[in-house]
Amino acid sequence: MKCKWCNFDNKTLLIKEYKYWRLSLAESQILIGWTHASLKRHILFFEELRDEELIELKKIIMEIKETLNKTFKPDWFNVMQLGNMTPHLHFQLVPRYKEKRIFVGREFIDKSYGRPILDEWIEEDNIFLKKLRNYIKKEMKN
Ligand SMILES: [Zn+2]
Repeated sequence: MKCKWCNFDNKTLLIKEYKYWRLSLAESQILIGWTHASLKRHILFFEELRDEELIELKKIIMEIKETLNKTFKPDWFNVMQLGNMTPHLHFQLVPRYKEKRIFVGREFIDKSYGRPILDEWIEEDNIFLKKLRNYIKKEMKN
């Protein structure tokens, strides 16, 4: 079976390459600014991480939170490691919002703020994803 994360090659989604990880936009943006941190080597479980990978992950979380605080200003932030659909270690980095946010004229509402995320996954088109990626990249320091 072809692993989605081992074969990641989506320039539209990619925000930043790190030594051990890749930071990319999620295809669904029901919560605006939702990103994925995926490890560049194929392992399945959290406890298989090497210390240096864990340290870098912490840095990535700090960077994306800092960037989102300058852009969409989330009220809370979820870090999740699930892997139910693609069992290759990656993290869901999900900003949460008390009130609606607006980006390129569209409203984004966190319908389940204060609770787990509703099981809703709506893929965005490439034009929207490129705009969002460029917006986030611009605010992120290199
Ligand atoms: Zn993989």
